[in-house]
Formats: sequence, C-alpha cells, structure tokens
Amino acid sequence: MAKVAETPMMVQYHEIKKQYPDAFVFYRLGDFYELFEEDAVLGAKLLELTLTARNKNSENPVPMAGIPHHAAQNYIDILVDQGHKVAIVEQMEDPATAKGMVKRDVVQLITPGTKLNNGLGNDKQNNYLAAILPRNNRYFLSYIDLSTGELKATTLKRFSDVVDELSSLEVKEIVLLKEAQTAESKIANSLAERGLVISTQTTVDVNATVSFLTQSLVHENEAQVTAILLNYIFDTQRRNLDHIVPAQSYERLAYLKFNQDTRTNLDLIQNSRTKKKSGSLLGLIDETKTAMGGRLLKQWVLRPLRDVEDINQRLNMVEAFQNDFFVRGALQDHLKSVYDLERLAARAAMGTMNARELVQLKRSLSAIPGIKSVLLSSQDILKQSGERLEDIQDLAGLIDEAIVDDPPVSVREGDIINDGFDSKIDEYREVLSQNQQWLAQLETSERMATGINSLKVKYNKNFGFFIEVSRANVGKLEEGRYERRQTLTNAERFVTPELKEHEHLINEAQLKRTEREYELFITIRERVKANITRLQKLARQVAGLDVLASLADVADNHRFVRPSFTVDSIINIQQGRHPVVESLLEAGEFVANDVDLDETTAIQLITGPNMAGKSTYMRELALIVILAQIGSFIPANSAVLPIFDQIFTRIGANDDMAMGQSTFMVEMAEANLALQEASAHSLILFDELGRGTATYDGMALAQAIVEYLDKHVHAKTLFSTHYHELTTLADKHTNIENVHVGAVEDDAGELHFLHQIQKGPADKSYGIHVAALAGLPNELITNATGILKNLENENVVATNSQSSELSEQVALFSVSDVESDETKELFQKLDGINISTITPLEALNALAELQKLR
Ligand code: ADP
Repeated sequence: MAKVAETPMMVQYHEIKKQYPDAFVFYRLGDFYELFEEDAVLGAKLLELTLTARNKNSENPVPMAGIPHHAAQNYIDILVDQGHKVAIVEQMEDPATAKGMVKRDVVQLITPGTKLNNGLGNDKQNNYLAAILPRNNRYFLSYIDLSTGELKATTLKRFSDVVDELSSLEVKEIVLLKEAQTAESKIANSLAERGLVISTQTTVDVNATVSFLTQSLVHENEAQVTAILLNYIFDTQRRNLDHIVPAQSYERLAYLKFNQDTRTNLDLIQNSRTKKKSGSLLGLIDETKTAMGGRLLKQWVLRPLRDVEDINQRLNMVEAFQNDFFVRGALQDHLKSVYDLERLAARAAMGTMNARELVQLKRSLSAIPGIKSVLLSSQDILKQSGERLEDIQDLAGLIDEAIVDDPPVSVREGDIINDGFDSKIDEYREVLSQNQQWLAQLETSERMATGINSLKVKYNKNFGFFIEVSRANVGKLEEGRYERRQTLTNAERFVTPELKEHEHLINEAQLKRTEREYELFITIRERVKANITRLQKLARQVAGLDVLASLADVADNHRFVRPSFTVDSIINIQQGRHPVVESLLEAGEFVANDVDLDETTAIQLITGPNMAGKSTYMRELALIVILAQIGSFIPANSAVLPIFDQIFTRIGANDDMAMGQSTFMVEMAEANLALQEASAHSLILFDELGRGTATYDGMALAQAIVEYLDKHVHAKTLFSTHYHELTTLADKHTNIENVHVGAVEDDAGELHFLHQIQKGPADKSYGIHVAALAGLPNELITNATGILKNLENENVVATNSQSSELSEQVALFSVSDVESDETKELFQKLDGINISTITPLEALNALAELQKLR
C-alpha cells in the first residue's frame, strides 16, 4: 500500500521530534498542546488523556492526544517527576497573519534536573543537575541548582565518590559529553541502573557567558565539565539565566566524608524506616524559619567541615545567639516574613517572576532593616554580621511605590501598578472611570427616557455593552435612535451611538492601560534582575543567620553544649546522648553515657545483650561528631573531640539477622571499604560484624578484622559483637578496650537493661532472656535454659585445632569422655533443638555459651 504523503504539519512535527527523540514533544496547536504518535500513546496512558487520531479515516491515522495549554504545567510536572523530558514547541508567529505553515520551535526542554518548582512555598529542597567528565583516571563533576543559580565543580578520584556525591546531592539527572567514549558510556549505564536520567551534550561552546561563569575554576577539566553543564542548560532553557553564580570549585577533602550507607544508618536526612524527615537528625535540628535556611542547613549536615577555625566561627555565632536570647527571638520574628529571596532573584532573571512575587520580594526586603537593627543592637560578632548586611531598600522602595499590595497572578491584564505611580496610567484610569460612571447611570436615564422599567444595560464578551428590552416593550423605543444588535426569544438587544462611543473609549483606555502596566511591570522586573548579585549575597547571609539562630534554638531546646576540639587522638564525651532516640522517649528516660577513648585506645569492643543499647551508643558518637563538625552544639554535658576526616559505618538493621549470602557480601564490602580507606583520623562503627555467616566463620573474620584495624588502620573504632570470645583480644592488644552495656537480672529472673556503658566485657549472655522477652514459646525457653545449664555444668573441652573450619566445628563437640551419661544427655538436648525453626539469635547465643566452655 502506497504511503499517504504527510501533511506539512506532520513534516514539521517530525523535524522537531527528530531533534528530541527522548522527550515528549508538546506541539502547540491553537489552545492545545498536542502529542502525536508514540508520544500520544504513552502520554495518554501516563496522563489519563483521551487518545484520538488525526486523519481518523485515512489509511494511516496519526494517534493524537491533546492538553489544554493553560493546564499544561500539571501534566508537564507529572511526566518530569516520573523521569521524562518534555520539549515545549510554541508557535513562533501569529497564525492569523502567518503565510503558509505557522513557524514553530522548541522554546524550552524541561527535564528532571532543570525543572523549576513553581510553588514558592516553604521549599527546603534543592534540585540539582550534574555533569560528569571522566578524564585521566579522574572524574570531574559540576552541578547546578537552576532555581537558585548555585554552581559548583570538583574533582573526584573514584567512581564510588561520584556516586556518593550524586546521591548526597539527590541528583536526578546527569549530563555527559556525547562522544561515545567507553568511559562515558560506562558511567551512563551504571548511573541509569541507579535510576538517574542520562542526558548528553554534543557541542560545547565556550562563549563569553561560559568563560565568565567558569573563570574562577583553576582546573581545566573542572572548567570543561562546567562548560558542558552550562551548554546543556543554555540549549534546553533558551532564556535569560543571569542569576547563575560564577562556579566555585570545592574540595571533598575540606569536608567530613561519609557515604550513602552511613547517611542511612545514621538517619541523617530522613528516617530510614519511615523515609520521613521527622525522626532524622535533620528533622530534629531544623528550626529554620526560611526555605533558604532549610536548604543551607541540609547542605551543612551533608557536608560537615574539617577546618577547626571555620567550625569555631560557626560555634561562636551559635553561642552568641544562645547568649542573646532577645536578639535571636527578634531576628527570627523578622525572618518569618522573608520569602525565598534566592529563588525570587532567580525567577526575576529568568523572566518568570510575576507581580505577586515582586510583592513577596518587597516584603522580604522590608524585613531586612529590622534584622539589621536587631543585630546592630547586639555586640561583637552579631553586631558585625548586622554591619555586613546590605538592606537593598532602594529596590524595596521602588516595588512599594509601583506595585499594588495584592496584584493578580496574570501580568498581562493590569491592576498591577499603583495609582499615582505613572501619569499615563492615571489618565487611562480616569477615562475608564468616567465612562464607567456614565454607563452606570445609563440604565436609569434610559428607563426614564423610554418609560420601560425593565430595561437593562448589560455586557457580554461577543457584543460588548448593549441595552436589553423585552419584546413586549420594543414598541416604546424612539425610532431611529436604537440600533438592533441581537434578537432573542423574548428580548431584543440594542446599541446607541453614545453607547458605542463610550464603549470604544473604555476599550481603548483598557487596552492602553494594560499595555502600559505590563511595560512598567517589565521595567521593574528588569530592575530586580539588575540587582541579582546583591540579592543573592543577601540571601546567603540571611540563610546563614537563620541556620545559626536555629542551631542556638536546638541547643536550648535539647540541652546541647559547645564541643571543643583537640589535635590529640582522644574522645572525651561526658554524659553523651543520642538526640533523636532521646527525643522519642519521655523526659529523663534516656540514659546518658560517657565515651572515653584515650590516646592509646583505638578500638572499643562493646558486648552486652541485644536491645541493651549498643548501636544507640555507637550511633550517638557519630551523630555527636557530625553535629560538632557542622558547628552545632552537641547533646552531652561536655565533649572534647578530634577533627575526624571520614566516618564509616556497618550497622545491620535489626531485621536483617537472617542474612543471605549476598547480603553478607555487602557486609564484607562495607567492612572492606573502611579497612582500605580509613585513616588514623577516621571514625569506624562496626555493629555485629560477621553475623551474616556461620558462627565460626563470622567470629574468625570479626577477630581478624579487629586485629587488622589495630595493626594497620588506627582509626577510632566502636565494634559491637556477640562473640564474647573477642573480648579476650583486649588482653593481648593494648589499643583494644572492652566495654559492655549493663543489664541486671531481678529475683524473678527478669532482665532489666540499664543502657549504661561500663568498663570490661559483659560477663553473661542474656540471650535466652531476650528471647523470652521477644515472646518465644515457653517450652522452647525452658528447653534452652536446660541446655544452657547442662552446658555450663558439663566439662566440655574443645581442642585447639586450628585446622579447617569443619574440623574446628567438629572439635567443639569433641569431649573428653564421649561415653559419659552427662554427655549423652547433652547431645540429646542438642538434638532436641529444631534447627529449622530456631532463630539465628538463639542459635548464636547458644553457640556462644557452648564456646565459653572450651
Ligand atoms: P542493641 O544495639 O544493643 O541491640 P539498641 O541500641 O538498638 O540495642 O537499643 C534498643 C532500644 O533500647 C532503643 O531503641 C531504645 O529505645 C533503647 N535504648 C538504647 N539506648 C538507650 C539509652 N541510652 N537510654 C534509654 N534507652 C535506650
């Protein structure tokens, strides 16, 4: 069958679609955006649109789905949030005057990384887009938040660093150079597997803007990757982007480093169970009043500092705010009326700012003199930070004079500019009001003149103003004065020459007024744009003050104290607390613990029953370290800490006790990362390492890992373990110390956790009690207690065989007198354990008890 020739429109469509094969093309057709062909089929499904067809009756109908253009934003958001891209194709000339096919072009490509949040609400999230350039065994990374203009670049050694950086920034889309190099495609594959949207950039033009924005980058490849990113942005956005701040190079080394697993293990940004911010460290310490402050605090939590002076500078501010309660409170009151200055400035630059946002900007700026004078009324550093604030009142004054207090969303329909601001607008308004008055009186005067009491003056969109008279009364109208406009069933509609004239005057004044209002609005928006650098600087200062005051609030609310830092390798925390766990308990319920590791102690082995508080104690230390290095006070009575360079954690969730082989692999891989990368300045938390495999395997590995850490790594390490055997390591190695979490058994045999860290190894395994607490059947508990008693009474001697694992396990059960009655009973009891139903916890505990008898 011969193919029907394509219509000119479809030819145009295909030309555009060819350039954007991986995007949904929203093709503007009158009041609609149309999707065609496969876009229409998939779009109809994802957006619940009706799928129709163009040329329905032809041999090859074209699938089509339409979206009303005024509602397009919602649909675009849905697609982009699902990881799709949307190319917006607009009509580039007026269809009414265009000759032939209306010219159309892509005006913007919206992608997950370039999407701008329209709501200027309390948005404490950044939306980052990143570019990566692999060169000379290094990875060059650049990222931008288009909604704020923040642009950064760095150099990374390993791909795992790239993955960590991307996940910490919550990047959804990355840009790679389209050169089909193997390195690039490897990255693309690996990141696509992680759910990132991959985009490519073909040309990289280093024009004046790119040079300006990358001039501060010393490293050529950092400048290059930033140029790739910027070119992608310019190509997709196709609008003014003057708000982009010149790129800053940053060093990961300047920050305390930890990976995604650690962020999750420590519930830093969100609670790993609920995936919510509440129940996380950030949730606990976020008392910021502005969206900018919220974003900054999150950046601080993800990147604690390593420079002790920088940290102390922040701490000085927190302390000053804590001491000056009045200033802090007054500052925060003012902050409540500050909108998202950073994003407002960006919207001004991109030309998407409406008059309402101008008013938000004015209100925000109007709060600055208050903030400034509050700070100036204080002393020292608070006063100095007040002196540094530039209040930009010229701009606030201009907006105040020009823009009404409650303007409409639309910027094209007038009612934006204040009376008295512009003489022309005042003139048009005067004309309008006179004519409207005339119209208002028309009904009365016409009724009088005609004697028709039911006569009405009305307006509709098609006919404008008219006089409506019921059919029965038409005869009463003066001949020749009324011109018929429309006939309805029961009424006739007329105009008069005066009415027409006034209507004309109204229309003209209206049109001129709205045009003039729009013109002035744009001038004012341009003035905002011209002030972007000042606004962005102010936004940063305000965000910083917000965060520091918030940290002072947190210190007060949760009884945090200022930490101090030492170059010695010691940790000395008096009465430390886990701030999040504490906040979930009743006041006074949380048991504070000291953490004390002196110069010679690198490793603490922590033993004690399950649920006693081992991992809480370990996490608590990491959280205190992070809080201290972001410049926050910390939950303790006092703390002296070294500056850490990295934190490594291996903490299994409680429910992954019965790990499969592959999760054990993950466990070992995480342990390996710490062994390979940790320095003497790192902090390592290993929670029950080795429990993912057979007991002897696990124990052997755990011991070997502890010994390796002791010999080669020297990082401060907290190592909790079920293997009581490991506690003997402290006898051999001076750098290893035993602590345990206390528990007491009352007269009734019930166990009480003290949550108290005490020196020395735990002297008894409380496994069976914990199992009872967990509600295991009584029969089983009694049985286990019997087995345990027997084992304790037995003279079980294990050989010291160091041969294969198998012989080791067999050796455990080789006893001196295999034939004795007790031994028989022991074996009977052991046989009584149902291997297929026993929990790993019970098994581990039972084995540990057995081992003790060796
Ligand atoms: P483990 O690691 O020893 O199994 P966890 O650290 O997970 O135990 O603690 C178990 C529970 O005990 C926690 O969820 C918390 O409710 C409580 N807990 C832990 N430490 C303390 C403490 N210091 N004070 C009060 N309650 C605590």
